[in-house]
Amino acid sequence: MPIPEGWKRSHFSADIKPSIKGEKVTVLGMVLSVRKQGGLCFVILQDRYGTLQVTAHKDRTEPQVFERLTGLKAHSYIGVKGVVKAIEKAPRGAEVEVDDLYVFSEPKRLPPFDMFAKTLPSLDKRLEIRAVDLRRPTAQAVFKIRHQVLQAIRSFLVEKGFIEVNTPKIIGSATEGGAALFPLLYYDKEAFLAQSPQLYKEQLSSAFERVFEIGPVFRAEKFKTPRHLSEITSVDVEMAFADYEDVMKLLEEMIHRAITDVLDKCSEELKALEIELEKPRLPLKRLTYNEAYKTLKKLDVEVSWGEDFSTPALRKLGELNPGFYFITDWPTVSKPFYIKPREDNPRLSESFDLMHGSLELASGGSRVSSRDLLARRLRRQGLNPKLFEYHLRVYEYGMPPHAGFGLGLERFMMAITGISNIREVTLFPRDQTRLTP
Ligand code: ATP
Ligand code: MG
Repeated sequence: MPIPEGWKRSHFSADIKPSIKGEKVTVLGMVLSVRKQGGLCFVILQDRYGTLQVTAHKDRTEPQVFERLTGLKAHSYIGVKGVVKAIEKAPRGAEVEVDDLYVFSEPKRLPPFDMFAKTLPSLDKRLEIRAVDLRRPTAQAVFKIRHQVLQAIRSFLVEKGFIEVNTPKIIGSATEGGAALFPLLYYDKEAFLAQSPQLYKEQLSSAFERVFEIGPVFRAEKFKTPRHLSEITSVDVEMAFADYEDVMKLLEEMIHRAITDVLDKCSEELKALEIELEKPRLPLKRLTYNEAYKTLKKLDVEVSWGEDFSTPALRKLGELNPGFYFITDWPTVSKPFYIKPREDNPRLSESFDLMHGSLELASGGSRVSSRDLLARRLRRQGLNPKLFEYHLRVYEYGMPPHAGFGLGLERFMMAITGISNIREVTLFPRDQTRLTP
C-alpha cells in the first residue's frame, strides 16, 4: 500500500525548533512512550534524527484522535499532523500539538525491555530481536557514532589521495596461514571466505599507489572472548612509496580525525552513552616490542620473546599505557610472511600494532617488495609458495616499496565508546554460537 495521501513527512524531529513555532507540520516515527496526565497526552516519537515530544490536549483535539493517541502502545509507527509550539520544558524547546493522527502499524507484542531501561536483559536475549533492541536510543547512539567514524575515515583517506576498492571475499587459498579460514563449496571446488584483503591490497598498491577497503573479513576464531567475532569490518589501507613510519603517522592522524568528527557531530550520542571522549595527543606513544618485553619481564609477567603478548601481559601493558599507543618493531617470527624484516637487524621487523590499553586495534607494517624474499619468507613460515603463485607472479613485474595496516572497526568502536563486549558494537554479531539473526 502506498503512503496515504497527505501522510508524507514534512519535518524530521531535529527540524522541530522554537524558530518555526506556529508552522503546520507532518512528523512520522515510532512511539517510544505514551503518558496520559489529566487532560493531556504526551507521546515521545522517535525518528531518524532522534526524539520529539508530541502533545494532545483533550479539550482542543478531536475526541477520536485523542482516544486513539492515548491508547497507543510503544512500537507503534505513526504519523502526526499538528502545529509547532515553543515549549521551554520540552526536550527540543518545542513540541508538536496534535491535530490529526495516522497509525501505520501497531505491535502484536512488546519486547521484554523498555526503550529507556538502564538494566536490560542479557545481550543474547536482545540479539534474538536485535532490530527491536536497536530501537533503543542508546543502542542507536552507538551506531550513529559508528556511521560518523566511517564517514570521517572515508573523507580523511580520500583527502589523502586514497581510492576506495573492493576485493574478493571468496578466495581460492589461504592468504596468511595462521588465522583459521571458513571453507565453503565453490561449485565443485573448495574455496574460503577471505580472512583479510592483504594480498589484493598490496597488489593494487602497485597499480593505484594508495588504496583502501572497508569491508568484511572472516575468521574462524577458536576462542570465545569479548573482543573476537567471526565476521568483522576491517579498514584496510595500503600505500606505495611508504614505510611503516609513514603509515603509523597516517593511522594516528586517521583516528584523531575520526574522534574529532565524533566530538563535533555526535555530542547528543556521546551524552546518551555518558561517554567522555578526548582527542588523543599526537604523536602517539611508540613503544618497541623489546621495551614492552623488558618492562613485563621486570614485573615478573610471563613473556616469551618472539611470541604475541598473552592476555595477562596485555592487561599489564594496558594498565601502564591507558589510551592509544603503538607497539613497534615486532620479532620477525611473530609477524606474517609479507612483513618486512629490518635491514639492520632481520630478527626484528618494520611492524606495529596500534593499541588502546590492552586492546589491539590495528596491525601494520612495511611490506616485503622483493619477489625472492617473499618466496623465502613463505617457505620459512611453512607455507607453500606454489599456492601463492598468483601473488608472486605480480612481483615479477616489479613492485614499489609499500606499507599499510588493517584496523578492526569494531575494536575501534570499543575504544571510543568504552563498551567492553564487541557484540554490543556490532549490528548482527557472528560468533561460534550465533548465526542468526
Ligand atoms: P588478535 O591478536 O586480537 O586476535 P590479530 O592480530 O589476529 O588480532 P590481525 O590479523 O592483526 O588480528 O587483524 C587486524 C585487526 O583486525 C586487529 O588488530 C583487530 O583490530 C581486528 N581483528 C582481527 N581479528 C578479529 C576478530 N576475530 N574479532 C574482532 N576483531 C578482529
Ligand atoms: Mg594483529
